[in-house]
Amino acid sequence: MKIPEIYSQKNRAGKPVFSLEVFPPKRKKNKDSIYEAVEKLKITNPDFISVTYGAGGNIADNSTCDIAANIKKNFDIETVAHLTCINSTREDVKVMIHRFKDSNIENVMALRGDIVPGEEIKREFTHANELAIEIQRQCHDDLEILGACYPEGHYESQSIEEDIQNLKYKIGAGVKVLISQLFFDNVKFYGFISRLRDDGIRVPVSAGIMPIVKSSQIEKTVQLSGACMPHDFTEMIALYEHDKEGLYYAGIDYAIRQCRDLINHGTEGVHIYTMNDPQVAIKVWEGIRDLL
Ligand code: FAD
Repeated sequence: MKIPEIYSQKNRAGKPVFSLEVFPPKRKKNKDSIYEAVEKLKITNPDFISVTYGAGGNIADNSTCDIAANIKKNFDIETVAHLTCINSTREDVKVMIHRFKDSNIENVMALRGDIVPGEEIKREFTHANELAIEIQRQCHDDLEILGACYPEGHYESQSIEEDIQNLKYKIGAGVKVLISQLFFDNVKFYGFISRLRDDGIRVPVSAGIMPIVKSSQIEKTVQLSGACMPHDFTEMIALYEHDKEGLYYAGIDYAIRQCRDLINHGTEGVHIYTMNDPQVAIKVWEGIRDLL
């Protein structure tokens, strides 16, 4: 099923779209662990699962397409295959798009990918909107296109205003749904959404939520995303700094409170960054299932 149709059905019924993100296991020997995780995640009855795309490396080794196709076929859950373009040639992208299409994948998230110092850039695509145009050119009606957005601004932008103007290129190129970068302060998200709407961007936006359950995630993910940490979040971190189990449950509780507030504010969807940990995502779902 096409993802924009899921949003329009659920939102018309006054319900948010509930989706999950997983990533391909890094080691080949663990390749089946993703299906074990999805088997467990199935209980949450997600509207879709999105599968990330490793920006570097050879397209022949990329397992995003297989994983997205297998989840759809074997678990009967709709999927979105991510695709990045900054490290790809036009030919690589073309091959991948047709591989998606031939594998019965109907939804793609068009992304630029991060520019990593020292990593090769092919320079055939500069921004995600160019990838969206290429997807439209190759598979006009067969693939629906989603894109990323940044409630606190993308780190390369001078301002949120500039970032929102650039988002319009994506929408113009056929992106019909946006999924946000993770954030911890819902007020920032609400401000962002009202700026989008004021600027005439009407596509549904899902809020990206990452439950922080380990101190290592604070250093890595939080700092990389640049998400601002509101007072109650930093208080939680400080309180459980030396209490592993305490942080685990407090982080899940924080994510639940964030999701409940977002849904009660009429947010069109919540997208959980599962980090391939089904137990955490299931606990968050248990805390919001009455609202789904
Ligand atoms: P773009 O939309 O190209 O934006 C990048 C920057 O350029 C922004 O500052 C923007 O304002 C500006 N810009 C955009 N268009 C134009 C234009 N036409 N002209 C001038 N400036 C412009 N990375 C992966 O490697 N694999 C993944 O699977 C993956 N999944 C993600 C999923 C989500 C929901 C999110 C939020 C991010 C994901 N990322 C992933 C990370 C993403 O690749 C990086 O954040 C990357 O730096 C930007 O990607 P983008 O598609 O938003 O780029």
